[in-house]
Amino acid sequence: MCGPWGTYAKRSFSKLSAVLWNSSPTRHSGAAMDELQALKTRLCIIGSGPAAHTAAIYAARAELKPILFEGWMANDIAPGGQLTTTTDVENFPGFPDGIMGMELMDRCRSQSLRFGTEIFTETVTKIDFSSNPFKIFTDSKSVIADAVIVATGAVAKRLKFPGSGDGHEGGFWNRGISACAVCDGAAPIFRDKPLSVIGGGDSAMEEANFLTKFGSRVFIIHRRDTFRASKIMQSRTLTNLKIEVVWNSEVVEAYGDGVKGVLGGLKVKNVVTGQVSDLKVSGLFFAIGHEPATKFLDGQLELDSDGYVVTKPGTTHTSVKGVFAAGDVQDKKYRQAITAAGTGCMAALDAEHYLQEIGSQEGKSD
Ligand code: FAD
Ligand code: NDP
Repeated sequence: MCGPWGTYAKRSFSKLSAVLWNSSPTRHSGAAMDELQALKTRLCIIGSGPAAHTAAIYAARAELKPILFEGWMANDIAPGGQLTTTTDVENFPGFPDGIMGMELMDRCRSQSLRFGTEIFTETVTKIDFSSNPFKIFTDSKSVIADAVIVATGAVAKRLKFPGSGDGHEGGFWNRGISACAVCDGAAPIFRDKPLSVIGGGDSAMEEANFLTKFGSRVFIIHRRDTFRASKIMQSRTLTNLKIEVVWNSEVVEAYGDGVKGVLGGLKVKNVVTGQVSDLKVSGLFFAIGHEPATKFLDGQLELDSDGYVVTKPGTTHTSVKGVFAAGDVQDKKYRQAITAAGTGCMAALDAEHYLQEIGSQEGKSD
């Protein structure tokens, strides 16, 4: 879980924190250069969440000397990935008292470095997977790599309306508003309180059902009069007595509780009648989809209809031999740190076997 919101201190990774992170002497600046610096590696890893760093740890221990591009505010997410936007992570094994998301990712990064991963704080802007060796470009570097692991994650979509922003904008993001019920739903501020979910897909159904374990009641606010979720998920939801659907509706404003500075309720507009009504809730969870970070791939890997990288079931192989994908960029179902780390491990082992096959490496990671 992300956090004991009892402290009401959950925060997002700010641009300022990102600057501090980047000012560390071990990190490379992404300063523009007239000419691209040319590098060569057996394995290039793109991304910096649990998937990328797990892959890096395995690959580095196999003496593949991987190069890892951790991004620089790629998709507005700091190096370290989605967990840098949360406080306590309570469901990652090995931390019985929980661990701050930022600290967990800093530890992963240190572990990658310890075994010899070379990390650049730069965003990959272009790739060329048309022939092997592959080419990877940032604003200042071009890399030639025998194998590539794509672990660029995904971003939960959020809605913008008055009160939906961060605390410094006078909003309730991380103070009652979240985009991950599985991560945050168990927090004390949601216990036995009315909660709400926006969306009409499988995620919304899953999140609403999950939240009924904690909230007194769960409202699903949906903009249409039918769900797009699968029939089984719909029926599970519609037969749950703790769930009520607010059809044809959109949230136009979130307001505070007037005491603790956390979410107190929502103004909800019926899009058919135009009527705005008040819904007192202590939690609002966006479940309106995720956006995988795949644009930079420019159609060179097979993607599914939602833009996720397609991998061969049970492996991390993509449509291009020698290119592997791990973490949320190829997973629209589980989307957890531990599953991302698990597929990161798989990607490193798949890459290692591939490099052995083409005679590019020696060493073993496990
Ligand atoms: P991500 O964490 O998404 O990281 C990908 C990284 O790659 C990002 O830093 C991004 O900037 C970078 N990147 C993107 N494009 C490029 C590029 N072109 N070049 C270079 N770098 C690039 N899961 C849990 O298990 N427990 C929790 O408590 C929990 N809490 C969460 C709380 C919040 C608020 C959110 C949003 C998610 C939470 N999750 C939690 C989910 C978890 O964070 C994700 O499942 C996990 O981080 C996915 O890891 P990943 O390695 O796939 O990539
Ligand atoms: P979806 O894209 O399926 O659904 C998103 C929902 O959010 C839709 O109902 C959509 O409304 C609504 N929405 C989108 N934008 C807005 C907006 N601006 N304002 C208000 N509402 C909005 O995303 P999911 O994350 O639910 O699912 C993604 C994929 O993952 C699907 O293939 C799904 O089946 C799969 N999945 C499967 C699960 C499972 O099998 N257990 C669990 C979770 C996901 P509208 O319908 O009007 O377009």
